[in-house]
Amino acid sequence: MSASLKKGISALKEQVDSTVASFFSSCVHCGMCAEACLFYTETGDPERTPINKTEPLRRIWFSEYTLVGRLLKMLGLAKAVDEQLLSDWETLVYDSCTLCGRCSMVCPVGIDITDMIRKTREGMAAAGHAPNGLISATQRAVTIGSPMGVKLPALQAQIGHIEKDTGMTIPLDVEGAEYMLLLSSMEIMNFPEFIEAVAKIFKHAGVSWTISSEAFEATNSGIQIGVSDIAAELVQRTVDAAEKLKVKTVISPECGHAYMAIRWDGPNLIGKPFNFKVRHILEVLDEFRKDGRLKLSGKEVQKLTYHDPCQIARRGGVIEEPRNLINMFADDFVEMPDTGKMNWCCGAGGGVSSNERADEIRLQVFQRKKDQLDAIHVDGIISACSNCRIHLEDGLEEYHMDMPVLSLTETIAEQLEEN
Ligand code: SF4
Ligand code: SF4
Repeated sequence: MSASLKKGISALKEQVDSTVASFFSSCVHCGMCAEACLFYTETGDPERTPINKTEPLRRIWFSEYTLVGRLLKMLGLAKAVDEQLLSDWETLVYDSCTLCGRCSMVCPVGIDITDMIRKTREGMAAAGHAPNGLISATQRAVTIGSPMGVKLPALQAQIGHIEKDTGMTIPLDVEGAEYMLLLSSMEIMNFPEFIEAVAKIFKHAGVSWTISSEAFEATNSGIQIGVSDIAAELVQRTVDAAEKLKVKTVISPECGHAYMAIRWDGPNLIGKPFNFKVRHILEVLDEFRKDGRLKLSGKEVQKLTYHDPCQIARRGGVIEEPRNLINMFADDFVEMPDTGKMNWCCGAGGGVSSNERADEIRLQVFQRKKDQLDAIHVDGIISACSNCRIHLEDGLEEYHMDMPVLSLTETIAEQLEEN
């Protein structure tokens, strides 16, 4: 047995706790999770059902932690976890799952299948069976601080452009600021308008904020690839920066999994509570709305809808806030079928967009989003995750659909009343 396979098996064994054991023992093989997963509904491939994606973990649980499994193993009759299995499952576990959480919502016995797939990724990554794109992104996140290799000078250059164009100051390393904003590399490089939008809104609301030059990256590749130690290290960098600057609230930007990573997984990963709050940018903007600090002018007359990023809505619970905000400016807002906590994933989360091998399938499963959009005939789609935004644009182009994809934060900045 190779050293990497040994490492993978040992990592899978470490994931088996009483929760995992009870989940595997209670699966009644009803198939309901299959119908909740766009990688199954849009391909019809039985291999891509959610519970099947956990097979490497299930085999370890069965052969190591059940009486029958152990007897079969002693007799050489148990199905082993070997290189072939891990190699065969790599495309299922990484290319055909966005960790969107929809399957976990429908399981009649309450199995959190998404978490089990994430645990399966821990073993796959340890055994070296993770996609190259995700491995490189994770390496860059550890060594450079950003999965896209974005360094501080690149952020400073974007800040410089915004300051020159707008006359506003983008605060860097301001100790004692109320809010510390995180940014995804994708926002810095592809959507710097987001930084400008936050600056405009926060100036309008009259609150103090800052970006840390030491920990500005929001994305957490450790979560996506399935290496908890790396995920914890990346969370700790944010915690250290927030404590150093003594901020009250850390803001997760328009990025889905970054919010899950820092808000819900973060304290568990580093093993202690934070001494600051974590909020998604939409939660902060909705607090401004409630406090009367957000005054919008004009009305958006286009017919608009909202795509709920899975990690923000289903896994993160931020569902009402975007709707409260959109209703401040949209005259004609319509919901897609299956929205809010049961929205369908765009198809690119959970590291799928960093994995070139998955390009074809992520566009194939976009058919589900197309069907949702075809049902409501809108002029534009708003979202709050730059990864969703890029994939929505790709998917709309692939299916010859012509409509703008808007950032909610940027749209609000455009609608602000002059102070
Ligand atoms: S988490 Fe989402 S993409 Fe992954 S198996 Fe479940 S429903 Fe499918
Ligand atoms: S929905 Fe739950 S019980 Fe049914 S097959 Fe999937 S994991 Fe098993």
